[in-house]
Amino acid sequence: MGALINNNQDAEYTICPNCNGEGKYSTYSCNICPDCNGKGYLSEINGIKQLCDLCSGKGKYELLRQITCRTCNGNGKIRK
Ligand SMILES: [Zn+2]
Ligand SMILES: [Zn+2]
Repeated sequence: MGALINNNQDAEYTICPNCNGEGKYSTYSCNICPDCNGKGYLSEINGIKQLCDLCSGKGKYELLRQITCRTCNGNGKIRK
């Protein structure tokens, strides 16, 4: 069983406010789409734009990255 840290057994520790006790958090980083160079479409034929699949026509795409919380070093709780 995973350790539950909801009950206040551990009075010296508190749930990390930076990651809400997860120990890590997700962040998006926006990159210019390399397929369409940020235009959002690959080519234009007779005025009809061929939308870029990689970025769904947005010209940029988001990378989801998981980052270990530095406040609690991934423990999810910090010393009070
Ligand atoms: Zn694209
Ligand atoms: Zn944290």
